[in-house]
Amino acid sequence: MELVTGLRLPRTSVTARRNRGLPARARLATFRAVEIEPDTKDWTWVLRRPCAECGFDAREIAFVEVPGLVRENAAAWPPVLERPDAVQRSRPDRWSPLEYACHVRDVFRLFDTRLGMMLATDGVRFPNWDQDETAVTDRYGEQDPSIVAVELVAAGDAIAASFAAVTDDQLGRRGIRSDGAEFTIETFARYFVHDPVHHLWDVGAAG
Ligand SMILES: [Zn+2]
Repeated sequence: MELVTGLRLPRTSVTARRNRGLPARARLATFRAVEIEPDTKDWTWVLRRPCAECGFDAREIAFVEVPGLVRENAAAWPPVLERPDAVQRSRPDRWSPLEYACHVRDVFRLFDTRLGMMLATDGVRFPNWDQDETAVTDRYGEQDPSIVAVELVAAGDAIAASFAAVTDDQLGRRGIRSDGAEFTIETFARYFVHDPVHHLWDVGAAG
């Protein structure tokens, strides 16, 4: 599944509870082994109700607002990446600001590609994208924050321009995700824009 990740800690909390009685060294060993819990939640509910965490309500967003929202969001990330602790995870099972930024940059790129696919072929099927696997294989935590800042803003500009170029008669074109979830360009845009907004909230930089 995809979008909005690094939020939950069930695997960690169970492990932490189990190891509460262990000596400090044993607890530390467990602590180091913690990984980000893969996100398997279907986030398409964001089209039907407000997000209880970041407060974003996709139902209130008009398609024409999406390019502006994307550019505004992208502009908020470089200061986050300049934080001295941008590379540090506040909890071992939660992405660092740098890792969130890498994810947002890649979401901008991925959704721009998918938008192009929908414009080229009505009813196109998207290949699966495993965001958690990408974070590991692309070594998000080791990327250079100053480069990621430039790439994120450029990717945000690119997808904002792509959405701005969509004409009214193209809004109903469809795309289908590998799990069967179906979008029109209009719902795809409103679904997509929650993700960077939510992650800005994750790193404490929203609004
Ligand atoms: Zn949210």
